[in-house]
Amino acid sequence: MSKITIVGGGPSGAMCGAELARGGHEVQIFDEHLAWEKPCGGGLTHKAILKYPFLAENSYPKKFIHSVELIASNDQRATLEMPNPIVIYSRRVLNGMLLERAQAAGCKVQQSHVTSVDTTGAKPRYCVEGEWQSSDFLVLAAGARNHLLPETRALQKDELEITQGYFIPAVADSITIKFLPHFDGYIWSFPRCDHLSVGICGSMASHNSSELRAHLQTFIQKHDIPVENGQFYSHVLPSPQERTLQQRTVVGKNWALVGDAAAWVDPLTGEGLFYAMRSGELLGKALAEGKPEVYSDWVGAAFASELEFAARIVRRFYRGTFLGTAVTTRMVQFLRRSPVFRQLMADIFSGTQDYTSLKQRIMGHMGMTLTEFVSSVLNFESNARAKARPRSVPVP
Ligand SMILES: Cc1cc2nc3c(=O)[nH]c(=O)nc-3n(C[C@H](O)[C@H](O)[C@H](O)COP(=O)(O)OP(=O)(O)OC[C@H]3O[C@@H](n4cnc5c(N)ncnc54)[C@H](O)[C@@H]3O)c2cc1C
Repeated sequence: MSKITIVGGGPSGAMCGAELARGGHEVQIFDEHLAWEKPCGGGLTHKAILKYPFLAENSYPKKFIHSVELIASNDQRATLEMPNPIVIYSRRVLNGMLLERAQAAGCKVQQSHVTSVDTTGAKPRYCVEGEWQSSDFLVLAAGARNHLLPETRALQKDELEITQGYFIPAVADSITIKFLPHFDGYIWSFPRCDHLSVGICGSMASHNSSELRAHLQTFIQKHDIPVENGQFYSHVLPSPQERTLQQRTVVGKNWALVGDAAAWVDPLTGEGLFYAMRSGELLGKALAEGKPEVYSDWVGAAFASELEFAARIVRRFYRGTFLGTAVTTRMVQFLRRSPVFRQLMADIFSGTQDYTSLKQRIMGHMGMTLTEFVSSVLNFESNARAKARPRSVPVP
């Protein structure tokens, strides 16, 4: 049995802890907030529910959403009905549930801020409550703002998004996504049980906070969203480039990064919860087998090629044009017209259709213009040329 310390008790840290404790390890999780309302939409795709059915089958408050309204920058609208729903949690509830699960598996959980780490010795050390302590392995699950990055580099401006938003005491039954002209990102409204999380995300390399704030205010006013009693938030979100996913070191001899700390986020959609949970689980399994070195390969085979695909098309999606009109606007127009395209997008949105097998699904199943549109956005030629990840690695 090894002593494993996890810094961060969010979805990645809590999942990793549960896996390790079940494998018989002595696990200590430190989190400075424990279960808290981390700035987030809180949406988990159907892919996450399929992988982790406990996300749907529990008595914790949550909301199942079957419909998404997409609004183009010219205000044209389309609605997607999703047979496979997305589940939306308040992060206080989600983090609390995952931490309770980790504790039930045997993890010790303590509310403390870890100030420094040192992985240069045979055993990694960390400083908590002013005291240096050591363990056999250090899991860094401290999120995107975290500076505890031994033997690897911090994320750069073009690998991050700025986000701003409000938790608003109002209710709704569908998600809203609004695209903006010449903007790498979007505005969202995610309904939870008793409030909305309404926010905006945009590339840190292309946009600044005041620009985001101005767009969000315009949206809020236009949609009569009662923001007076809302609580403002801002945070950063990893938006990995191909180089981030292929070259940044995420595991060393006695440490590893999981979740946002490792930048496992879909740069197109901002989905990070599933990848946080899955990376935590995979690292937990790798350590439980005494093989931390397989973690990168497992993540590569499980989802990194998907994220790399998204990284290759993200700019084209938000900035590109098709027949002289913005791709996002064309997408909304096609959604209004084509039931086949609506079904495809509903599956992508709910996470049941991945990017890498899209080509097989669209070829021969859609009209010529739609096929050209999707192919131009997905840029199949450049994706075919991209360095392929080993897919043959069996992933637990
Ligand atoms: C505005 C916004 C909206 C988002 N919406 C969605 C969404 O709808 N769906 C989705 O899938 N993803 C969404 N994401 C992404 C998602 O929030 C993250 O991918 C996910 O939270 C990552 O989980 P994690 O456990 O890696 O990190 P986090 O959830 O950030 O957890 C890190 C934990 O570490 C703790 N911590 C940090 N530093 C220390 C320290 N030094 N000592 C002790 N504890 C520490 C923190 O308290 C925190 O609890 C959103 C992100 C943002 C910013």
